[in-house]
Amino acid sequence: CGIVGYIGHREAYPIILKGLKRLEYRGYDSAGIALYDGKDLNMCKTKGKVADLQELLESEISTNGKLGIGHTRWATHGVPNDVNSHPHYSNSGNLAIIHNGIIENYDALKKELIKRGYTFKSDTDTEVLINLIEDVMINQHAKLGKAVQIALNQVVGAYAIAVFDKTKPNEIVVAKLGSPLAIGIGEDEYFIASDASPFIEFTDNAIYLEDEEMAIIRLNKDIKIRKIKDDSLVNPYIQKLQL
Ligand code: GLU
Repeated sequence: CGIVGYIGHREAYPIILKGLKRLEYRGYDSAGIALYDGKDLNMCKTKGKVADLQELLESEISTNGKLGIGHTRWATHGVPNDVNSHPHYSNSGNLAIIHNGIIENYDALKKELIKRGYTFKSDTDTEVLINLIEDVMINQHAKLGKAVQIALNQVVGAYAIAVFDKTKPNEIVVAKLGSPLAIGIGEDEYFIASDASPFIEFTDNAIYLEDEEMAIIRLNKDIKIRKIKDDSLVNPYIQKLQL
């Protein structure tokens, strides 16, 4: 399984597609991509290989957009099928997430969200997390980064996630516990991936998040890294990749 994300000045789709192919060695049963084209959020996902996704995506949705996320799934909750594939949207349709890992207490969180009126399209633990984040944003008037932090503090499990809000398309929030997450730092552009292979051709500057860290990645701003548990700021350690 793997994750890839891009925000910057280039077309995101070719970067994400190629990135997913480079992460195929990690194993997966399904794949999906969501792209924000400046107006609409477009998504395509399917059970099967990245090559299947590519064929379907290029015939079904616009490949335009300078913000996007892509995922290869190794199913843990919910069978491998199109609906359970990632990305997943929140109920409002504003938030999109990709997730590698497991939310172990998803059932209790899901029951609580259903009581509050949330509905679910998939059987995944991941769709529970994105709606929990949305619920925190609405009910605690939290910004996306804060809401991700509050939600993750209610989660038991493992994750590498990337989340964005299509109404604030200059920002991606990522977090890690257990599963790997690397951030590539370019000029006015950022890359996200399970390892550096999807972005090594674009930049040799990378940050590897540590467990229980999250990062707020904003265009034209420095990355802000925090500890998820105690909210303390972490000094970004930028590694030089060997090309
Ligand atoms: N637990 C999530 C799911 O089953 C993510 C699996 C993965 O790591 O790809 O959808």
